[in-house]
Amino acid sequence: MRQGHYIKLFDPWRSSLCTCPVKFSFDPYTGCSHRCLYCYASSYIRDFYNCRPKKNLLTIIKRDLEKLPKNAVISMSNSSDPYPPIEKELELTRKSIEEFRKHQVRLLVITKSDIVLRDVDLLKEIGAAVTISITTLDNSLARRIEPSAPPPSRRLQALAKLSEEGINTGMRLDPVIPYVNDQDFRELLKEAKNIGVKHIVSSTFKPRFDSWRRIVSEFSNIEDHLRRLYFKEGERIGGAFYLPAKLRFSIMSEIAEECRRLGLTFATCREGFTHLHTSPTCDGSHLTRVR
Ligand code: SF4
Repeated sequence: MRQGHYIKLFDPWRSSLCTCPVKFSFDPYTGCSHRCLYCYASSYIRDFYNCRPKKNLLTIIKRDLEKLPKNAVISMSNSSDPYPPIEKELELTRKSIEEFRKHQVRLLVITKSDIVLRDVDLLKEIGAAVTISITTLDNSLARRIEPSAPPPSRRLQALAKLSEEGINTGMRLDPVIPYVNDQDFRELLKEAKNIGVKHIVSSTFKPRFDSWRRIVSEFSNIEDHLRRLYFKEGERIGGAFYLPAKLRFSIMSEIAEECRRLGLTFATCREGFTHLHTSPTCDGSHLTRVR
């Protein structure tokens, strides 16, 4: 593919812990205005919280789409949110999906925004699957950790509506941060099941330097505990700090067990615990439909 393409082969820093199937990654926007404290994309994208449209987006993706293999999965988005507030006005994501419609591709949407509901017609038509990230049911806690994203209650309503419309849905309980949101996941999973969500992806918080600073500045009361877990007992993998493997496994196992009980499929993201997975793909690619 020639230079300047926007639909790229997904390559998570060649992480050996990534279990994603072969797929393509597409971000209609650079940066993201949802301002989640734990975001890892801010460590490698300049001026990250200033969300801006990609230049010549439609011209370039038209060209990219011609080169994609048949039935390729496009994951939108991995380094931003495809439905930031400016999407209401610019409609770049919608126009991109209109282009996807002309090709035999499979679309996996990853968002935290209920603006996705505007595109239900197109998403249904192309057999897209939608995963929405929800880290807690507590709206006030969510306001602290994801200050500009829609509250969890709206995200759940969006998942319910999408499921009602026959769109396959998943939920990302991601990331789980010890002492912050590691306690209320049972209720959240139950809600997800009740509204028709099929698949859960989860992972623990893996700070890089900037996300670490943001989290401990907001939750200074638990800084010592987190410091011990991440920097004394944990390990560094790639550019990220990981909790001790035993703790990560215990958190992921509890969530996996609850999913099993509720009849939800489950997978982890970059944890290395594939034996806990109960779905054909970790990321939810299997929920997309081949046209
Ligand atoms: S929605 Fe995703 S990309 Fe945007 S700030 Fe939050 S974690 Fe980062």
